Amino acid sequence: MIKVFIDVIGVDGSKQCGCNLCSMLLGESVLLDAGSASMLSRQQQRNVEMVLLTHAHLDHVLELGFMIDATVALRDEPLRVMGSKACIEIVRTHYMNDLIWPDFSRIKTSIGPALVYETIEDRKWFELPGGLTAWAEPVCHGAGARGFLFRSETGSILHTGDTGPTCSIWEKAKELDDLRMIIAEISFPDEKTDIAIASNHLTPSLLERELDKLNRPDVPVFAFHLKPWERHGIEKDVARRFRDRIVMLRSGDRLAF
Ligand SMILES: [Zn+2]
Ligand SMILES: [Zn+2]
Repeated sequence: MIKVFIDVIGVDGSKQCGCNLCSMLLGESVLLDAGSASMLSRQQQRNVEMVLLTHAHLDHVLELGFMIDATVALRDEPLRVMGSKACIEIVRTHYMNDLIWPDFSRIKTSIGPALVYETIEDRKWFELPGGLTAWAEPVCHGAGARGFLFRSETGSILHTGDTGPTCSIWEKAKELDDLRMIIAEISFPDEKTDIAIASNHLTPSLLERELDKLNRPDVPVFAFHLKPWERHGIEKDVARRFRDRIVMLRSGDRLAF
């Protein structure tokens, strides 16, 4: 059975010197969020068949435009950009709209359009390039946000995407006996709980309550999406609450499932 590798390209919840916005490579052909797609070589970007978006906020879509620009001449298939209906509408209307950036879905090349948009059907398993299947679950955030469950031949993982406290994705994950890991957002430390709630994000204490909903203390948790200037406070809270159960993801990490 073939393991799938997740290469962590960027995990930061905002942009500062030395930070990389959210992007993870699932195998070679699926890029989950495009915040720092340009960190990949041009050839790696060309090998990406699909960009799967958790939602349309800038830290998750920023470098989609640069990625298609850099690789359009190399592609023998259009780049597939997939997200919830609301997410795709926002990207089309407010970003790749021939004003902020060219609308590559209307640029004709020898292989047809340079880019095609695809809408996810919620709460249904669907296939991704590279042999993964995915399940999209609405979560508590703006911009058409979805969390995902991913399944390979060897196990399943849960990726919360950006979210505040939510329920249904944890309920769905209870059905997965082969859950190998949880990739969960933490954006603010406990002392900024008000800001986290107002912006639909999590703190370590809020994540602790989320994990209680699943009640799988055997499953390792990897955190991402920290606001860079809050890292120190978050790490202190995490160490106090979770000891070593939660690992902070870093750019360059590789996970397997
Ligand atoms: Zn974000
Ligand atoms: Zn967001």
